[in-house]
Amino acid sequence: MKALVKFDRGREGMGIWDIPEPTPKKGELKVRVLVAGICGGDIHSMNDERDCVMPVALGHEYVGQVVEIGEDVEKFNIGDWVVTLPACYSCGECEFCRRGLVTLCPERKSIGTHVNGAMAEYLVVPEKYSFKVPPEIRDIEEIKKYALIEPMACVARGVYERIDVHPGDIAVVTGPGTIGLFAVQVLKSRGANVLVYGLPNDKKRLDLALELGAKMVFTDSEELKSALYKENPRGADITCDASGAVAAQDMCFQLVRTHGTHLQLGHFGDKKIPCHIDLIFDKEVNYVASNSTGMKTWDIALWLVNAGMVDLKPLMSLQLPLTEWEKGFDAMLNQEGYKILLLP
Ligand SMILES: [Zn+2]
Ligand SMILES: [Zn+2]
Repeated sequence: MKALVKFDRGREGMGIWDIPEPTPKKGELKVRVLVAGICGGDIHSMNDERDCVMPVALGHEYVGQVVEIGEDVEKFNIGDWVVTLPACYSCGECEFCRRGLVTLCPERKSIGTHVNGAMAEYLVVPEKYSFKVPPEIRDIEEIKKYALIEPMACVARGVYERIDVHPGDIAVVTGPGTIGLFAVQVLKSRGANVLVYGLPNDKKRLDLALELGAKMVFTDSEELKSALYKENPRGADITCDASGAVAAQDMCFQLVRTHGTHLQLGHFGDKKIPCHIDLIFDKEVNYVASNSTGMKTWDIALWLVNAGMVDLKPLMSLQLPLTEWEKGFDAMLNQEGYKILLLP
């Protein structure tokens, strides 16, 4: 079968390989991949900025259909459409595994980095960490959008499981990319009024933020400040940086109110960064980081989508055959569109 494999350093160390089809072991599902999303993490893998066990088929954001089931599989049948929590192999015994927070397990192995992932015609995943797309959804285009559940669940982890949000809270989101636009919707689903800040070339993304429920959007920090202080003279109850940019985080530190919460969703690419920490020290701000998802997050994320609280569709852009992966990775690097999908 065809797979996009990372086998050596750099972009030259990636290519379409013909690898054997996997066989499901006990408790595993063999899945025919419908679409796989390109994640910032896959770009980090390409650039050798995160550990991969090579050779490995990339990709952890996907939706696919069960074509074969291993021994002792109970919840799934052939024909079911599924999505999977990426860190789906772990020790099963540590304090994090016992709480369903498998991504934090020191022994975790994720699809697309440690074991073969979803940028392939087939992959195998444990049923234990897989979730069903509602069976009443039969339209293929509707099913495709479930490949975006994983990145949205990362936001739901932060907003539902890591911080408190009270109806009427003022939240400022910096960075209107895919994650930021999910943050707008997920914060709003908890009753927050969301203001979004982006760069001047984020104009289209900010327009979409408004369509998705943002109260106001800004490209000028002074305008944002005066609008925010008009809403609440003390500042933002919540700031949320989805960009992983130093300047954006600094702005959040300025805008968050005393005893407010800062939620960091953006990753800084493993770099040491300067930050004005006393801005949040003086205000006794809670700095909360949110990394990936836990088991319970997926129920929340699926509920948000199935109940119509979060719309994944506007964030689907380019769809390309897997063989044109380079076009997709380049589009991602050039920040063209939102989530780019590969079809194996
Ligand atoms: Zn991802
Ligand atoms: Zn563990």
